[in-house]
Order: sequence, then C-alpha cells, then structure tokens
Amino acid sequence: MSMNTQGRPTSAGDTGESFRPKTFTGNRALDMEEPLIFEFGRLDNMGVDLDEPDTFESELGGHERTAEIGLPGLAEPEAMRHFVRLSRNNYAIDSGLYPLGSCTMKHNPRLNEKMARLPGFGDIHPLQPVSTVPGALELIDELAHWLMVTTGTSAVAMSPKAGAHGELCGMMAIKAAHTAAGRSPEIVLVPESAHGTNPATAALLGYKVVAIDAKDDGTVDLAALTATIAQHEGNIAGIMLTNPNTCGLFERDIMEIADLIHAAGGFFYCDGANFNAIVGKARPGDLGVDAMHINLHKTFSTPHGGGGPGSGPVVLSDRLAPFAPLPFIRKTEDGLELVETDAATKDGEQPFGRMTAFHGQMGMYVRALAYMQSHGSDGLRQASEDAVLNANYVRVGLQDLMTLPFGENPCMHEVLFDDSFLKDTGVTTLDFAKAMIDEGYHPMTMYFPLVVHGAMLIEPTESESRASLDLFIATMRDLVMSATRGETQRFSGAPYLAPRRRLDETTAARKPVLKWSEPEPAEVTPQVAAE
Ligand SMILES: *Cc1c(COP(=O)(O)O)cnc(C)c1O
Repeated sequence: MSMNTQGRPTSAGDTGESFRPKTFTGNRALDMEEPLIFEFGRLDNMGVDLDEPDTFESELGGHERTAEIGLPGLAEPEAMRHFVRLSRNNYAIDSGLYPLGSCTMKHNPRLNEKMARLPGFGDIHPLQPVSTVPGALELIDELAHWLMVTTGTSAVAMSPKAGAHGELCGMMAIKAAHTAAGRSPEIVLVPESAHGTNPATAALLGYKVVAIDAKDDGTVDLAALTATIAQHEGNIAGIMLTNPNTCGLFERDIMEIADLIHAAGGFFYCDGANFNAIVGKARPGDLGVDAMHINLHKTFSTPHGGGGPGSGPVVLSDRLAPFAPLPFIRKTEDGLELVETDAATKDGEQPFGRMTAFHGQMGMYVRALAYMQSHGSDGLRQASEDAVLNANYVRVGLQDLMTLPFGENPCMHEVLFDDSFLKDTGVTTLDFAKAMIDEGYHPMTMYFPLVVHGAMLIEPTESESRASLDLFIATMRDLVMSATRGETQRFSGAPYLAPRRRLDETTAARKPVLKWSEPEPAEVTPQVAAE
C-alpha cells in the first residue's frame, strides 16, 4: 500500500484489503447521504423569527387555506448544508469533463454571471414601463445585431425560449410566408439524422414529415433528396436540416440543398444547435439558410437549464423577416421602440403572432452578449476551432480501439463512435457508460443519433485543456481494454462508487413519483408501546 509522508494511504479506498466499512449514517466520508428536505424539515423550525401578525380582515371570501401549509422548516445552516450536499451529488461542468454530445458547449464563464446580476439587468421587471428600461432594449438590440452578423442574416426573432421553441418559431414564419403567398404546401423534408425536435416541430404545425436518407458517409443523400422533391412537386413547404449534423459531420452539399429546396418553392430551415462549430468560420445566411435557431446555451455559453427558461433566438432571411413574431424592437430616429401589438405594426411588418408573454429571457441575453464581447470576433472563431480540434483529438486518441461508423474522417465539434467494438465482450453500451461514472465522468450521449446502432456521441467542448483530454482518452482506453479482456464485472454492476447505483429507469419513466407524501407511521409493536 502506498503511503504519504505522514504514513497515510494515498489512493482512495486503498486500505490494503477489500474491507469497506458500512457507516452508521450512510455517509461515505465526503459523500453525504442526503434525505429529502421534507423528511427532516420541521414545521416548528424556522431560520427567522416572525412576529405574530395583527388580526386582519381576509379578503379571500372564505378561500383561505385552513390546513397546515406543510413546508419544511429549516435553520439557516441546515438549509445551506442540504443544498450544498445535494449539489455535490450533481455532476457538473464545474466538477469535471462533460462529454455529452449534441449538447455542444457547456462552459459558463463567471463573468457572465457577474454581468447578469448587475441590478440594472437583474432587477428589472417585464411589466415595468418600457420608457424605464432603455438600456435593456439596447442590450437586446446589440445582441440581435451580433447574432445577425455572425449568421449573415437580416432579421432575428429574439423571444423563443429554447432551441425547440425557436424551431417552432422559424417554421411558423415559414408557414406564414407560404400563407401570405397564397400557398399551402403540406410536406416538410427531414433528413434521417435529424434531431427529434425537427420532425416533432413540423408535425406539431400539421405538416407531413418525409424522411431523406443519408449516404454511407453520414450526410444527406442528394440523389434521394432530388427524387423526393420530384415526387412531391409543388407540395413542399421546406426542409429542416441540422448542420453540422447530429453525427458531428458538416453537410458539404448544403448550398446545393438550399438551391434544390428553393427551386421547389420551399424554405430552408437550418437547425443551428451546432452553430458553435462554425461561428466565425461560415455564415449560414451565405449558405442559403432562411431560418435558423441559435441555442444561446450551446453556442454563446449561457447555462443549460439555468434556473428557468433558456433562449433560442431565430435568425431569418429577408423573405421571412416580415413575419417575425411580436414583440420586436424597431429602430427609429428617437431610439429603440418595443413593438408589442399588431396595432403598432407598420407597412411590411406582418408578425405571425406571439411566442411568449414577454420579450424573452433577459438574463440569458446579458450572458450571451457578455460572452461575445469578452471574446471578440477572433475569440469566437478560436472557440469554434478549439471545439473542432478537441473533438478530433479525442477521435484520433480512440479510433484504434473504438469504432467509427463513418470511417476515420475528420469530424466537427463532436465525434460519433458506435458500439461494434463491444461486440462479443458481454458489455453493453449502457454498461460501458455506467462504468464511466465510477471513473468520475459523466457518460457521453448514448443511443443517439438513432441512425447509428449503439451510438456513443462524445463532445469534449472547446474549454477542455489538452491535459484533461489526455486523461479522458486514457480512461476510455483503459475501459475499452478492460471490456475486451473480459472483465465484465467492472461494467455489469456499475456504477459501484456513485451515491446511487443503477436506477430502474423504465419504472421511473413509466410510473414517475412526482410528489412526496408522508410515509405511513411505522407500526409499533405492543411490547414496545407498553414500555
Ligand atoms: C439541443 C438540440 C435541439 C433542441 O434545443 P433545446 O434548446 O434543447 O430545445 C435541437 N436540435 C439539435 C440538433 C440539438 O442538439
């Protein structure tokens, strides 16, 4: 057993024998067992002392609550410990490399947080008079400007709250443009490798989804596209294409695809979730794109799931710009105006409606603009170059041991492996992913995209250092070799070292328990009661 200079074992669990004590608390040193807040909070406990309220006349007309409110009361240190302990059970970008693919960048610079908390941005209310928030309007307009510059487009709808919401917005603008032209085409083309939200969006709007096959190299088959367009001549509303696609590959024929779809009378919707791989390198507007959402959390560093809705602005081509939804900002000689109603629109403005109650997510706007401005155009370009470089570094570091479904060609910001390398090892893709948890890594994206059997989609992201990529690659190599050597036990029961072992995901999904209810009091046996 290796010891440090004080004679203590140096590696975790290295006691020289396989003994692992079972602790009384269920805690394992710094790994704390944390109950639900309702299980240990007590009504009679409170962090502050409140005076008894004066008697008052209720204006609720008999609707006031009579039962206990049932909130758990905690002292301040208890509340603090509870949430800190819970946070330690959560794998986060602040604790380690996050190789999930199709989620793109995960870096959340602290500077963003500082900017978002400036009282002039953090403390404003959407119902406060517009005249009191000129700075907020200016920030939204500034962000909109840079989104248009980086994408090479002329309009942007800022209000959608996520990528999928942005898709809906873009497709509604496309539908409105067809309607305004007196057309009602019924079909939206969606390549096989599309993100699930693409066909879902088209279907939600009542379109019929027709799939387009991929070639052996994982990109759209132009011949299949041409044939499908011919088959549905005059009935095509548009195409929804992800580029770089969900296999992490750049669709090189994108301009031909744009020409084909435009010639067929359709619009080109591009799913821009992977824009982080090409910012500063290529502008979607130059490639023929009519509408594209930008997930601010995937390209401009706002948090994924950051305590509320996110933001998925949609850039629009000249042809779609008039149909952008309310509200939008209009530049006038006297400054910026927030156009909130149809009555306030001018000639040439034909908003298709409204996507959200207010203007969008101010906190996300501030963060995204802070990221853009702190990087500058050279910094943004370098971030995309680093994203692509890091993914290819991982690809080259693993391609001799893991299998690449589309050959050893360069990828963009994420690298897609499949599970053929696990064939005959008795280890499944899921087992492999669970063993990564024991190694302290969040698993990569598994079983997506669906076009590849046993997909393992790895996206290291731009912010990882070479040292952290080397350790990740070495860990993956160790796991692969262990699987091929037949050490199935390392995988079949994994994770062994996580706060929770393998969950019953099927039951959790089918019969979710979403509400805590007080457990029945334990039965008291008569003898104990008598004592
Ligand atoms: C993440 C993602 C989406 C959906 O974006 P959300 O912001 O999660 O709604 C759509 N398409 C692709 C390719 C994505 O990766």
